[in-house]
Amino acid sequence: MDKIYLDNAATTPLSAEVIDAMVDVMKVNYGNPSSTHSFGQEAKILIENVRRSVADYLKVSPSEIIFTSCGTESNNMIIKSCVEHLNIERIITSPLEHKCVAETVLDMKKRRGVEVVYLRPNPEGDIDLDKLEEALKSSDKKTLVTLMHANNEVGNILDIKKTALICKEHGALFHSDTVQTMAHMELDFADIPVDFASCSAHKFHGPKGSGFAFVRKSSGLKALITGGPQERSLRAGTENVCGIVGLGKALELSILHMTEYSGHIKSIKKYCVERLTEEISGVKFNGRSAGEESLYTVLNVLLPFKDPMIGLKLDMRGIAISQGSACSSGAAKPSMVLMMLLNEDELENSTPLRVSFSHLTTKNEIDALVTALKEIAKDFTIENTNSAYRQ
Ligand code: PLP
Repeated sequence: MDKIYLDNAATTPLSAEVIDAMVDVMKVNYGNPSSTHSFGQEAKILIENVRRSVADYLKVSPSEIIFTSCGTESNNMIIKSCVEHLNIERIITSPLEHKCVAETVLDMKKRRGVEVVYLRPNPEGDIDLDKLEEALKSSDKKTLVTLMHANNEVGNILDIKKTALICKEHGALFHSDTVQTMAHMELDFADIPVDFASCSAHKFHGPKGSGFAFVRKSSGLKALITGGPQERSLRAGTENVCGIVGLGKALELSILHMTEYSGHIKSIKKYCVERLTEEISGVKFNGRSAGEESLYTVLNVLLPFKDPMIGLKLDMRGIAISQGSACSSGAAKPSMVLMMLLNEDELENSTPLRVSFSHLTTKNEIDALVTALKEIAKDFTIENTNSAYRQ
């Protein structure tokens, strides 16, 4: 059975070119980049070349790119350092953030007494920027705004430039978790006055354990991990040379093929929406995920029957997909994001599924998903249960 991978927002397969580039580094460039001899300096040059490529992509200075181990570390470093080193007393955020932001913000509330203000999204999952402006006007406390660029579950996209301009106008710092958009779309930080952003290589066919934080030079952020001068003293520890080179190669390929890949993925997503709508009566799509304005890699589906085992059933048919829920104590519990966006009836009687695509996804794979879902849906039809979508 050929397996089908439709969980690309969780992680993506490594590109062959990325593997080759990393293997070369592992075999040849094993020097410590902090060493002054030629082995060290060759490794250092590799890192600095990637830093320059990342900076060119974002239209920023290479000194504003700090390599880290992942998106989670980048977001932790930015938020915690803002509180510890920049005297942030208030954080404005939303209940839709990834856990690595949400829990870090809560940690800052508990341990550092930071005030936290949540901007509630509308039922489509959008953040009202007028409410952000009101919240900014309502207090003189030194504020950090942290709002993700694209939501990893429902794909809603924030107007990052407008948000950055509002924050700047009101003297607040602005961090955006850009993990789902980096390398998937153009990002011009010369034009968008965001202070901090984050990236994770494994979301665009690069390796796990490699990411970076964008830290605007003027911000004054300091290191969270100390003990060495690496990364301009903003992140101590011997660099993951192989991972950084893998990130660089994956970014290079993403930029080179961005138009082609995004065009293909958008057509696959449109096809998926059409096929599901045709074949599964009563299907809905969560947030703005079915619309053209959303993140093109993510589609969040709401199936009109309750099946907590759906992820397992699809997996048994060779289809890997995220259920959009976290299982606790054997009971499928909807994620925080879906709890915010779905009504009680939807939460009680339907099943969310996050389908996420890459340039490798084919229409045949979508057909196989639709066939599998139709088979599963049969168990919940009126004839089979005498009560439609009862379970
Ligand atoms: N932020 C968002 C929006 C994500 O989707 C993820 C990963 O799922 C992360 C942060 C965490 O990234 P990493 O897996 O590199 O720690």
